[in-house]
Amino acid sequence: MRYYVNKNAQNNGDHEVHKESCFYLPSPLNRIDLGEHQNCSSAVTEAKKHYPKSNGCKTCCEPCHTT
Ligand SMILES: [Zn+2]
Repeated sequence: MRYYVNKNAQNNGDHEVHKESCFYLPSPLNRIDLGEHQNCSSAVTEAKKHYPKSNGCKTCCEPCHTT
């Protein structure tokens, strides 16, 4: 599965990580391609190279979502 991180932070400062199939996937201009990952934890680790405050989307990456 391909994952993306939102270039725009949420109100709490988190940059959300999404699967490409997610309803909330940002538009191409507002996301960074994280490549193919076996699971969301690997994708979030990759996202943190771009944004230290990265977090899994509650909808598509629920196991990797922290509050
Ligand atoms: Zn999502």
